[in-house]
Amino acid sequence: MKITIHRGTNQIGGCITEICSEGGTKILIDLGRNLPSENNDYDEYDNPATLSALLEGVEAVIYTHNHGDHVGFFANIPEHIPQYMGAMGREVMQNTLEEQLNTAQRAGRTQRAEELMGAIARLGEFRTYATARTFHIGDIAITPYFVSHSAADAHMLLVECDRKRVLHTGDFRDHGFTGKGLTPTLVRIGQVDALIIEGTMLSRDGSASKSEYQIQQEMLELMGRYKNIFVVCSSTNFDRLAGLYQDTLKIGRPFVCDKYQKRQLDTLRKYSGKHSWYYNVRNALPMSLNAKSLHKNMFEQGFTMVVRNNANFRKWIGFIKEHIDLAETLCIYSQYLGYLEEQPSLREFVDSFGCKVEYIHTSGHASPEAIEEVCRTLNPRSAIIPIHKDATSDFHTLNLPDELKAKIIAADTAQLGIPI
Ligand SMILES: [Zn+2]
Ligand SMILES: [Zn+2]
Repeated sequence: MKITIHRGTNQIGGCITEICSEGGTKILIDLGRNLPSENNDYDEYDNPATLSALLEGVEAVIYTHNHGDHVGFFANIPEHIPQYMGAMGREVMQNTLEEQLNTAQRAGRTQRAEELMGAIARLGEFRTYATARTFHIGDIAITPYFVSHSAADAHMLLVECDRKRVLHTGDFRDHGFTGKGLTPTLVRIGQVDALIIEGTMLSRDGSASKSEYQIQQEMLELMGRYKNIFVVCSSTNFDRLAGLYQDTLKIGRPFVCDKYQKRQLDTLRKYSGKHSWYYNVRNALPMSLNAKSLHKNMFEQGFTMVVRNNANFRKWIGFIKEHIDLAETLCIYSQYLGYLEEQPSLREFVDSFGCKVEYIHTSGHASPEAIEEVCRTLNPRSAIIPIHKDATSDFHTLNLPDELKAKIIAADTAQLGIPI
């Protein structure tokens, strides 16, 4: 077996890993776009010739989860190459793309709408996998294992061929609501020959690793102090939304969103509600200017409203502000702080509420301690291959035994390809 990290050894996001068996079966794990940065949306794989050279001989592309830095090129992949993802992750993507299509159509952006229709059709052809169910591509066996991350339905992938076992962690953490499942999952997987593992948090502030439970407690405390709460957060960060929803229920106020967010929460309920009551978000109420009885409840009891930076929410917030006391109102900003600097319109949107703003957020990525736990538990026989990390982050700074440190593969070696 040979593992090649085409991209990700020196950057966060834009992940591309290739695994090739001795028998010649070649698969890719993730084919992500570079994370957008302030002035630079360049991506070398946006070039059809570069992308088709990468895809030469590839028999399947398997995604760990649906974040754009892992799945970004799915619509550009030729139809003869099957693509795989978890069923819930696929549906969440479909909800998002259909919402973007509605927006493009309303704005008369015909070319964008056509692109989105193509992407939705391609997504419809995805094959889906389920946790702990092995499937085969040629002589390679792949077993996904559910893992906690800020994206819904994220999976680690165990890849087996040539009597070798490799685990690709994708993006993961142990501080989400389902994070305590991590160690039992690793124990179930057992020893591997090689471990391909994300290292995002090695270059980020460690205080970002508060648990989702702590985040939920902090939000509940703020709900006790403020009657009206606006929350700026991702519509697909389901741990965050479920925590907010359960807090709001506890305090006895309406949980308000828009039709798109409601649709995402229905997807959460459909797939995860059967595993835990916690994700049974059944009473999210979609806002509209005609919903008179909802308005009455909101203005009497207070509310939690999950907001997005768009024209509808701007209109609704303008209306709501005429009926509430801004001194009793708080905006919780609950996503990556950098977006406020990168997106002036988001900063202006948050300022437009005219109320106090609190920042409460935690990362979707593994803390250094969680990375150490995975390395120790899986105890790879021959290689630890760091990905999804900044060029300056060094796994040798982790608290690991020397015999494991000796197995850490350097970035340039991983890019050239490692025989396992
Ligand atoms: Zn990522
Ligand atoms: Zn991710």
